[in-house]
Amino acid sequence: MQAATYHGRKDIRVEEVAEGTVGAEEVRIDIDSCGICGSDLHEYTAGPIFVPEGDPHPVSEEKAPIRMGHEYSGIIAEVGDDVTGLAVGDAVAVNPILYCGECRQCHEGNYHICDSIGFIGLSGGNGGFAESAVVDAEHAVPLGDDVPVEHGALVEPLSVALHAVRRSGLQAGDAVAVFGSGPIGLAVIQCARVAGAGTIFVSEPREARRKRAADCGAAELIDPMSTDPVEYIQDHTNGGADVTFEVAGVEPSFNAAVGSTAPGGRTTVVSIWEEEISTHLNTLVLGERTVTGTLAYLGGPRSTEEYGMVIEMFADGRLDPEPFITGRIGLEELVDGGFDRLIDPDSDHVKILVKPDQ
Ligand SMILES: [Zn+2]
Ligand SMILES: [Zn+2]
Repeated sequence: MQAATYHGRKDIRVEEVAEGTVGAEEVRIDIDSCGICGSDLHEYTAGPIFVPEGDPHPVSEEKAPIRMGHEYSGIIAEVGDDVTGLAVGDAVAVNPILYCGECRQCHEGNYHICDSIGFIGLSGGNGGFAESAVVDAEHAVPLGDDVPVEHGALVEPLSVALHAVRRSGLQAGDAVAVFGSGPIGLAVIQCARVAGAGTIFVSEPREARRKRAADCGAAELIDPMSTDPVEYIQDHTNGGADVTFEVAGVEPSFNAAVGSTAPGGRTTVVSIWEEEISTHLNTLVLGERTVTGTLAYLGGPRSTEEYGMVIEMFADGRLDPEPFITGRIGLEELVDGGFDRLIDPDSDHVKILVKPDQ
């Protein structure tokens, strides 16, 4: 079968690979859709970051070349002898978190901050830019009857956003500011709205992305190239936003996110950073502001935690993955029609889904 493998920076190949056999506790998934994520683009342009290079990943025991794609969904095609609760024909989304099961965080159920944290499709395992993938059954989370299988590919990025919002301490009515409205920024806006946010501000230099932010629930759109977001947010709130999110991964956006937070407020950093930045910590000290990091989402095996909550909210319509999908391509178009298009600074794409049957 065909699958995409990551060999190194700017070197992703769609090639023929072995399908692999299904072990007793595994399932084979015929892949419907796999989203291209910002972290995939980082691996492509600046990696390897998560992809193990020298030493194999301690959980997957693999290193590059690895099979890519960690935001995917499909239909169960084969079930191992010891698997319960899953049957051929079930629609599932893959929770890609790899964890050791032995460290302190794993013992406390915080698999997403495991000492050996990894992701299927970044750290080894069988990624979703492929015709099919064999995974441990515990990673296959049923979508139920009310979520289209294609939407399953959006459960992972929306879970990242839901976790960020839950980490932020956001309370109903709070003024919220989101810095950056790429896919995760938009997802944070949707999740903040679900959590009962008051006015949502978004600071984003690209007009098309600001428009999408409005579609997702942002009321105040700021172009930071022409308007100082810190001044604007302070002027249009009670002295600053209660909660801000940094989702752009650049120094000015971090500093503006902290600076536009009201004294006593909280900034949640969602971005993965390519470089160090400089900041003045008096902005934190004078005003007792808090900065929090957030990674991935809660929920290990067959998650009913945050990963499962997103599936529920897709099913009842509180979260809507449809505005995120701006393109659908076949597997052989992955690099030209996916990665290269998304890193083009003039691209207005949010999420491109790779569909092997396209
Ligand atoms: Zn992702
Ligand atoms: Zn662990």
